[in-house]
Amino acid sequence: MASDDGALRLPLYCPLVVNGEEGKAASGRQFARENPANVREIATLAEEGTQEDARAAIDAARKAFDGNVSNWIYNYKLREQVLSRTARLMRDNADRLARVVSLEVGMPMRQAVPHIGAAADIFEFYAGLAGKLYGESFTLPSGSMINLVKEPVGVVGMITPWNFPLTQTARKVAPALAAGCTVVIKPASYTPAATYELVKLIQQTGIPNGVLNLVPGPGSIVGAEIIASKKVDKISFTGETGTGKRIGAQAGMEVKRVSLELGGKAPYVIFDDADVDAASRAAIFGMFRNAGQACGATTRLLVQEGIHARLMARVVALTRKLEVGHPSKPSTDMGPLISASQEKVVQEFIEYGQAQGFRLLTGGKKLSGEGFDHGYYVEPTIFDGVDNASRLGQEEIFGPVVAVTPFRDEAEAVELANAVDFGLVAGVWSADYPRALRVARKIRAGTVWIWDNYAQPVEGIWGGYKQSGMGRELGYHGLNDFLEVKQIFTDGTGLAMKAPYGQVIKE
Ligand code: NDP
Repeated sequence: MASDDGALRLPLYCPLVVNGEEGKAASGRQFARENPANVREIATLAEEGTQEDARAAIDAARKAFDGNVSNWIYNYKLREQVLSRTARLMRDNADRLARVVSLEVGMPMRQAVPHIGAAADIFEFYAGLAGKLYGESFTLPSGSMINLVKEPVGVVGMITPWNFPLTQTARKVAPALAAGCTVVIKPASYTPAATYELVKLIQQTGIPNGVLNLVPGPGSIVGAEIIASKKVDKISFTGETGTGKRIGAQAGMEVKRVSLELGGKAPYVIFDDADVDAASRAAIFGMFRNAGQACGATTRLLVQEGIHARLMARVVALTRKLEVGHPSKPSTDMGPLISASQEKVVQEFIEYGQAQGFRLLTGGKKLSGEGFDHGYYVEPTIFDGVDNASRLGQEEIFGPVVAVTPFRDEAEAVELANAVDFGLVAGVWSADYPRALRVARKIRAGTVWIWDNYAQPVEGIWGGYKQSGMGRELGYHGLNDFLEVKQIFTDGTGLAMKAPYGQVIKE
């Protein structure tokens, strides 16, 4: 039964998009995505793609690339136009896009709206780079010339997560299109409509048929086919470290290019001389944005002993003021978790923290009562005195549960920050800039924020050390991930017999 969620008519729908045509799955089946804020409601019905559907999409992308459809590979002006029009269309449709993201993810509108702006910024940025794929040229003493030209990597299979569906997709699609690649996207099954809404807009920009294809469906079927296919040149994956390890191993068997954006366990190191209020706000932003369901979420607060009591008093006071509620409500700070299974994982971590005797400073409960009974709502939760070696200090929770661990000095802070398998992001707060910089250099993570948290400018980079991934998204580095470098060597001597040939030919 259709219903309304504000401006949206439910359920939303996600078809397949193959070779510019919207279609149904070969299985004849659809799958339903429930509304995580009210599970009695179906948010989306999506086509349940099959292996056959994935193959058709890969074939379309392959044909578009190998046939250089509409001169896609060389016509940077067309690629620029597609990307800049996408950015404009996203801004024109920002309210609808934000509502769709908010609905499927359970993300508060106050976070979903800037999420759309950030995704549009990514398209705009790469529109500016599409015409700047300069190579290099070098002339040897002999007069021979080396030309290094940049070429698109080919057909890219993209497997995306649900937590920030539009920026995560934009970080892959925009640079891949700027580079001249063709694409098959397998969206997370929790957020098919959000991904489709973006693809639908891109289809309106004049993009040639076959360049961008979408196949919703199970990761184990559609995703697995994309990874296995010899017709796919590169896999760009964002998701859990466990899934990423398997995908990396499989891609390695085919020597397929692969970039992996995986999990995190970010530390935020706060020294005695920090500004208590500013550091508390920065930490809370990282801790509870999108209910902590973020790869770069602040999951470990490492706090120096001298500031510990003052800082935690402020952090707890601010946390208690957070409004947990329906994501569509303008005042909501934190919405529900994505699913029943994620709620169970979060509750198990809370029970574990209590069983270990860590001090529960605030939160710890599933919310119930009016407005909460049909959604996956858990309180923002902070444990103090956490042993960094425990599961709360080591494992990615992907929820609003934070571990606080006090430290004595700089050396211990660095040791604790690095004592995890992950290395995605970190934060440092100290009034002593040389110290903050020193610590930032010693933490093994792809991004370290000083006096800030979770800033992700498109001009910068995103990516992890250690088990947080391989490769970098955003900025120039994000574009390079979708390019091959080819050397074209041209003789400049005009000689029939050149010195090196003498190694084989005597006259
Ligand atoms: P998952 O690894 O469960 O899923 C990610 C994607 O992989 C989904 O599209 C999923 O499909 C697909 N997938 C699952 N199994 C397979 C398979 N066997 N073969 C191919 N594809 C598969 O991660 P989540 O969606 O739960 O995302 C959360 C995780 O992502 C967290 O660990 C988080 O840290 C990480 N992440 C990392 C980021 C980074 O930049 N480093 C950014 C955002 C998230 P389906 O949905 O159908 O199962």
